[in-house]
Amino acid sequence: MHVNSIDKCTIEEVVNIIREADAIAIFAGAGMSVDSGLNAFRGDNGLWTKALSIEGKSYNHLDLMSHHAFIETPKVAWEFILSLKEKYELTNPHEGYYKLLSLIKDKEYFIVTSNIDEHFLKAGFGENSIFECHGSVNYMQCLDILEREVWLTPEIKTEKLQLADLPTCPNCGSICRPNVLLFGDWFWIPIRSTHQQIRYNKWSKEIKEKHKRIIAIEIGAGKTIRTVRNAAESFASNIFPLIRVNPFDFETKMSNHISFQMNAKEFLMSL
Ligand SMILES: [Zn+2]
Repeated sequence: MHVNSIDKCTIEEVVNIIREADAIAIFAGAGMSVDSGLNAFRGDNGLWTKALSIEGKSYNHLDLMSHHAFIETPKVAWEFILSLKEKYELTNPHEGYYKLLSLIKDKEYFIVTSNIDEHFLKAGFGENSIFECHGSVNYMQCLDILEREVWLTPEIKTEKLQLADLPTCPNCGSICRPNVLLFGDWFWIPIRSTHQQIRYNKWSKEIKEKHKRIIAIEIGAGKTIRTVRNAAESFASNIFPLIRVNPFDFETKMSNHISFQMNAKEFLMSL
């Protein structure tokens, strides 16, 4: 089945598939966050295409999301990250999150997401059922990768931010960086994410041994960084149905995969 627009009957079929499923794996990319009003990173209007002006100097968002930015221009890099964190806190997850939760909360479910905003957690999804494959902006780590700990990023106001205000490593006292996968990042300490991944792998193995009615729903995951799409395809393979929801790259390869050319919120609210 291949659907390019809202089709009442087909949406109803999806609702039935969800209702009858024993276990559901959700794979969510940037499209899920964008529908809450948050900026996309990629695409024509993405943050990466825009310059950022701080204290009269122009910076590229892309350069600020690198390990070296936290060494060379830590104040500017943190100012950007803290403003992003603040925006995530001030923004509410859109209604689609809550609709999804109401449909799957009594089933076995797991969320795999590349979003670093913790909006699934904020919407009420279980903390132990979320795998943030690119980390979370709410955590920070040392610039020294020999340290294997991560800490909660403290609440710091970006207004009149000074070098002395920047978050420092509780072990060595040097300036930290966010515990998220940055560009060309060889220095991310994915210790938190790895623990989540271990839980996800265990869940995935157990439900596949226990149940037959299993589905994967992939929402708003782009093709540029394929982590989320690959995880969804690998989970479903050619055994379980994969429902792909994407306004652009909606094509699927397998005959038991269903695709909807729709936005995340639009799809979820139509269920
Ligand atoms: Zn340190």
